[in-house]
Amino acid sequence: RCLQENKRPKVAVIGLGYVGSCYAAVIAERGWDVTGVDTNAQLIEELTEGHCRYQEDGLAPLLQAGIVDGRLRLTTDYSQIQAADVVLLAVGTPIRSDGSVVETQLAQACGELSRHLRAGQLVLVKSTVPPGTTRDFVRPLLERGGLVCGADFGLAFTPERFAEGTALRELRSLPIVVGGMDADSTQDAALFWRQALGVEVIKVDSPEAAEIIKLADNWWIDLNIALANELAKFCAAFDVDVLDVIGAANTISKGNGKVNILLPSVGVGGSCLVKDPWMVWRSARERGVELFTPAIGRKVNLGMPEHTAQLIIDALARQGKDPARCTVAVLGAAFKNNTGDLRATPVEGVVTALEKAGATVRLHDPLVDPFQAEALFGITPAETLEEAVHGADCVAVMALHEEFASIDFAALPVADSCLVLDGRAYYSKEKIAELRRLGYAYLGVGR
Ligand code: NAD
Repeated sequence: RCLQENKRPKVAVIGLGYVGSCYAAVIAERGWDVTGVDTNAQLIEELTEGHCRYQEDGLAPLLQAGIVDGRLRLTTDYSQIQAADVVLLAVGTPIRSDGSVVETQLAQACGELSRHLRAGQLVLVKSTVPPGTTRDFVRPLLERGGLVCGADFGLAFTPERFAEGTALRELRSLPIVVGGMDADSTQDAALFWRQALGVEVIKVDSPEAAEIIKLADNWWIDLNIALANELAKFCAAFDVDVLDVIGAANTISKGNGKVNILLPSVGVGGSCLVKDPWMVWRSARERGVELFTPAIGRKVNLGMPEHTAQLIIDALARQGKDPARCTVAVLGAAFKNNTGDLRATPVEGVVTALEKAGATVRLHDPLVDPFQAEALFGITPAETLEEAVHGADCVAVMALHEEFASIDFAALPVADSCLVLDGRAYYSKEKIAELRRLGYAYLGVGR
């Protein structure tokens, strides 16, 4: 066994991206000794100097507190890992266009780790990977250093299931799944998570089961959002508010749970939902199994940015306005609310389609790095909300960051009969009525 009941383990986190930073910060907050390792020297420097590039509520001060107290040390030096009892692997696992995983980060991290691994350590893989990766890819790379998995070190897959925007809260509360290479690894991983986070632990029979659970989560979410999006189009064709339908449909108990149709929206983005269904599709195919639903969910959701832009263009035309002479203020560029992450943001597709129709697009997102936004959209973001919406024919709310939740629409310097596009079905019927009283025309996906 790698861990003991009453001994507080030292922890190393490899990969200080979104996931790794959150874990390093929260475990250090518990008073535990944490070493964060990343090959990106600039990232280490930024984080050490107190600049956190991830806009996650509470993360920056937590990281800073750990660094100042000396509980959290950040480095590019892998040899620092030797002092750790538990090593979390949280490097990126992007995919290629054929759904196969780019294993470069994982291979490099495991290669480096194998050179510094010592007997008695427990390695926990958190990066999302196709089933079989922990056993057939990670294990042999780690064993290259001469130690044997199961005999000398423990190894388990323990997926990351939090969502950006609510990461720290979910990390401290969601049940954690563990699937070890052997019974001791599973036991040690379970003990570690119970001690580190105090959360419920779900033990499964193998790393493959844990790997599939992660993929099932995101496969389901993507497909469910696709259902909500098609339901929205269906409702719109009958002038029915999709939220009424979803609210009522979700009151029925079915099978081992309740019906839970998610919300329609401008589309799906971020680093996980857009790739994990393809990981499912590809790894099934490699085992000779053809799956259809991952691709269908992806297809529907990929079409939503253009669909949403078309809603705006059609509504402007119905008002007798030429879209090519109109200004659309896009509020929220990130892929969802309360995060500054631009990875695979569906807003990019909306902006492209609006610009193709000739509209002038302004962009405002207080959480997003303006340089990154400019590089992605080719638009210099407006610094203030007022600047963005000045004279706008449409205010398109694409992410309801906290900053946007209390917009005083009565005070906005917009054009007459300005449209409000509710990109994520955020607004209640009361809010819609209020917007109409103020002279706005409301537009929602399926509403
Ligand atoms: P990320 O791209 O933000 O971070 C990866 C980090 O790993 C980067 O800082 C990079 O510099 C570092 N890195 C790369 N190679 C390295 C190496 N050899 N040694 C040390 N560091 C190295 O990725 P992320 O969003 O944090 O996601 C990490 C993993 O977790 C991915 O597999 C992702 O699919 C999964 N995941 C992410 C989320 C999320 O919300 N972002 C949620 C669940 C699961």
